[in-house]
Parts: sequence; C-alpha cells; structure tokens
Amino acid sequence: MRIYRIAAIPGDGIGAEVVAAGVETLAACARRDGGFDLAFDHFDWGSERYKKTGAFMPDNGRDLIKSHDAILFGSAGAPDVPDHVTLWGLRLAICQPFDQYANVRPTRILPGIVSPLRHVAGPELDWVIVRENTEGEYAGIGGRVHRGLPEEVATDVSVFTRAGVARIMRFAFALARTRPRRLLTVVTKSNAQRHGMVLWDEIASEVAAEFPDVTWDKMLVDAMTMRMTLKPQSLDTIVATNLHADILSDLAAALAGSLGIAPTANLNPERKFPSMFEPIHGSAFDIMGKGIANPIGTFWSGVLLLEHLGEKPAAARLMRAIERVTADKALHTPDLGGKAGTVDVTRAVCEALAGDNRE
Ligand code: NAD
Ligand code: MN
Repeated sequence: MRIYRIAAIPGDGIGAEVVAAGVETLAACARRDGGFDLAFDHFDWGSERYKKTGAFMPDNGRDLIKSHDAILFGSAGAPDVPDHVTLWGLRLAICQPFDQYANVRPTRILPGIVSPLRHVAGPELDWVIVRENTEGEYAGIGGRVHRGLPEEVATDVSVFTRAGVARIMRFAFALARTRPRRLLTVVTKSNAQRHGMVLWDEIASEVAAEFPDVTWDKMLVDAMTMRMTLKPQSLDTIVATNLHADILSDLAAALAGSLGIAPTANLNPERKFPSMFEPIHGSAFDIMGKGIANPIGTFWSGVLLLEHLGEKPAAARLMRAIERVTADKALHTPDLGGKAGTVDVTRAVCEALAGDNRE
C-alpha cells in the first residue's frame, strides 16, 4: 500500500483548530479508500516559536520537510508580531525556496451556501484563479533609506521575468484546457504599468499560440472586479500577478459565501519540491479557541492535496462529503450564519465519507 508522508504545519491562531480537523478528515478519507495511507508529521512552527527562539522554524526546517509528499498548512500571523515578519519568516520561507510558483484557488458556491450576489445561481460561479506565486510585486526587492526623516524613501520593486511569466502562463493555459469551458482570462494593468504588464500581455499572446483549443481574453484588473461581481458566468480560469490575484481571490472567496470555505494549493508543478495546501483565511484571532472556526476551507485544501497526490477517487469522495455537509444548514458554522462548531462539521464530513458507497 502506498503511504504518503504529509507535513502538517498548523501555525498560528485557528490554524491549529482547522489543521487538526483537516488531519482527522484526510485520515478518514484514506481509511475509506483503502488503497493508500497518510503518515502525518507535525511541526510546531509559528509565532509562539518565534517569540521564544527568534525563528519561526529551525535552521534546517526546510530539510525536515523537503522529502514529504505534501504540506498541509494552517495560518501564519499573530497580533503581537508584525505581519510582514511572519509572512516572510514562515509562509514565504517555504513557498519561495520550494519554488511553489503556481498558486491555484478554485472558487464555487457550494450547495447550501448563499452568495452575496443575489442574481447569481450557484452553478453560475465556477472559477479557478491562478496566481503567480514567486515574483512580481512580492519579489521582496526594495528598501528604505533616511528612516524617520522628512526625505525618507521606501521602494518595492516589481520583478517580472520572461521565465517566470511564461511558466505561469503555460500552467494556466494547460489548466484551462482541462476544464469544460476551455476559457482563460489574463488579468493585467498594462495601460498604467507599461513595462512588466506589457511583458505579461506579450507572453500571453505567445503562449496562447501553443493552445489553439483554449479561448482567451484580457482584462485590466480594476475592470475585472466589476466583471467578477456583475458577470460571474462569463469567467472560468483566471491568471494574474501575485498582487492582483491575491486581491481578486479574496473577492472571489467573499462572492462564494465565506472566507472560511476557500482553499488554495501552492504548487511546484515539476515536483522537485513538495507542494503546500492551505485555507486562504488567516489566523482569525477574534474566534480562536472558541471551537467555531469553519474547517471547510482546510477540507477543500485536502481535496486539492489528494488530487496532487494522484488519488482522484479519494479526492472526489472528500469533495462529495464536503458538499453534502454544506447543503445541511444545521451544519453551518457562525461565519455562514449557523450554530455548528468545528467538531460537528468534522464529524459530519467523516460520517459522509464512511457512508459514501460510490467507487
Ligand atoms: P482572517 O482571515 O484571519 O480573518 C478575517 C475574518 O474572517 C475574521 O473575522 C475571522 O474571524 C473570519 N474568519 C477567517 N477564517 C475563518 C474561518 N475558518 N471560520 C470562521 N471565520 C473565519 O484575516 P485577518 O484578520 O486579516 O488576519 C489575521 C491574521 O492572519 C493576520 O496576522 C494576518 O497576517 C494573518 N493571515 C495569514 C494568512 C496565511 O497564513 N495564509 C492569510 C491571511 C491572513
Ligand atoms: Mn491574501
């Protein structure tokens, strides 16, 4: 039997609650499948460790997880640690060196979930946002001089490389091709940003020639927010820069009903390094320890993890179990207007898995 090694990194805040629920659900999924097993290693990396030792993870941290088949991540961020320190100290410290350049964020309105878009029926919103995850506006290049003085200067330089843009573009076209509508929207701001964004446009045209069976169009990011809100049916697969897709995917999560549901995969498509799966929400300190964190975003990230491992039937079974549970309003957590707790939702998904007789 194939045994996959999974590194579980709960991180901060409700990360611990949702990752515990995710591990339980994935284990139930493996039991139900019978064809594979998952061995979890747990890592206590996060802000508590940083406050005690000055580092979010040990010096050899990446060596400890580089041979795992996948990483399940919770959240990084604490009220008493600056967010940019946490982000670069933990999440980006894994994503960047592991070259997880494709950040994939599926968005759908799941059964039983009410979208704030009153005019949109559930099936009309079915997107995958592909975010460039290693360069662009979050390349980390820049600096500050003359601190505190009136002439202080701060710069963040966006970096777009031909190799970086071409590989994410190819990934997005290839993904669009696997979806029924074969439709890709390339998002930029190439009217105002006339260097890097124009390079995106040029490379999009070049790569499009390799995918004659994919229909594609271009949008400026500001107009894109309107199209997502007013004509969600007109979109399918979307590719955008690190910053633009970061913002658009929070909008997408809200339009699909709750931040607590939305999943993401940080993929190294060449599989030289492990890929990382996480809910898109943060540490949610306002609800930490109350047992009401919505674990669905983590479960759906588990579906993406199983798909990445090639366990397609198990992934489909977990997605069916999630949808059976969201369809039942008695199993909604407070972020969805319900009264259920993390444990209730987790138990219900595990029961739905056990009771699913389809192969
Ligand atoms: P957040 O996602 O933590 O919370 C925003 C709101 O959504 C809160 O009201 C919260 O209660 C609610 N919420 C989020 N997830 C939920 C869930 N699973 N169930 C129910 N309700 C949920 O965003 P924030 O408040 O902007 O950030 C808090 C901290 O998390 C910050 O330190 C931030 O840097 C960090 N953060 C980390 C990540 C990450 O690790 N990927 C992502 C976003 C934010
Ligand atoms: Mn974000």
